[in-house]
Amino acid sequence: AAKNSGRNRSCYYTQAMQSVAQNRMSLSNDLHKALAQDQFRLVYQPIVELETGSIHKAEALIRWQHPNRGLVSPADFIPIAEQSGLIIQIGDWVFRQAANQVKHWRGAYGKDIQISINKSPVQFKSDSNTHLAWFEHLKELDLSGGCFAIEITESLLMDASDTIVSKLMAFGNIGMQVALDDFGTGYSSLSYLKKFDIDYIKIDQSFVRNLAPDSSDLALCEAMIMMAHKLGIKVIAEGVETSEQRDLLRTAGCDYGQGYLFSRPLSTEDFEGLVWNASLYRSE
Ligand code: C2E
Ligand code: MG
Ligand code: MG
Ligand code: MG
Repeated sequence: AAKNSGRNRSCYYTQAMQSVAQNRMSLSNDLHKALAQDQFRLVYQPIVELETGSIHKAEALIRWQHPNRGLVSPADFIPIAEQSGLIIQIGDWVFRQAANQVKHWRGAYGKDIQISINKSPVQFKSDSNTHLAWFEHLKELDLSGGCFAIEITESLLMDASDTIVSKLMAFGNIGMQVALDDFGTGYSSLSYLKKFDIDYIKIDQSFVRNLAPDSSDLALCEAMIMMAHKLGIKVIAEGVETSEQRDLLRTAGCDYGQGYLFSRPLSTEDFEGLVWNASLYRSE
């Protein structure tokens, strides 16, 4: 009986693995069509200044409306796009879409909002020079680099080659800001905080989730905030879901918060309603 169940189990695993592989393959095929058929869109999550409650920044997050599967999470398709290299084109689409949106909002509301864009390490490591075309695009739209921040992860800096360093510098030179995403989860070698021109760290939501008075997570957040500030770096806390978390972070000196407490990622219409049309938050 034991032998039987063992064989069944291995059979089960093999099928499960096969279907995972098939699923990836079919998603990968569909991703190619998704770009051509306009199935991606961006949603925008406000980044709130904790001291004042005002919103001058937002993170752009990609969404894929799959024709049969419905909404597919970026956590599921970004890794596949990275493997196939399609992330280069997708990243290009994201940037242009966000830039056009900023331009539109400037025209419609007379105000600029700084949009953060996630950049995959694969985009940095590739030898494509799409960022130069982006800079041209910004010029055409008459937008300054300061309207954007790019979010990168610690892992990119760990093995930063000359190509990566020079691309990062190119972004900095046109005034784009740089944020370190998911801060604290990688092999946080602190030396790169002084080696690279980093403007923000984003404290990963795993440190925020269980924030409580006297918790070790609070001690870690306080230490990250103090260290960042000493280096002239601003701090954004991710995944703020409760007013208690917000209050602890604000007391600890954290500059910005992002999370469901303030807002979920929003369609452009809902974002406009929240940030400019409603007075939930002061925009000045
Ligand atoms: P991320 O850059 O760390 O983005 C934050 C994620 O946390 C987003 O998930 C956001 O919806 C979610 N989030 C925000 N507030 C809360 C909260 O209060 N509680 C919880 N539990 N979650 C919250 P999302 O949109 O599913 O994106 C997942 C990841 O996919 C992103 O993590 C980013 O790494 C990647 N991603 C998203 N859009 C893009 C893109 O345009 N390009 C690239 N390369 N990666 C992207
Ligand atoms: Mg991010
Ligand atoms: Mg800078
Ligand atoms: Mg993050």
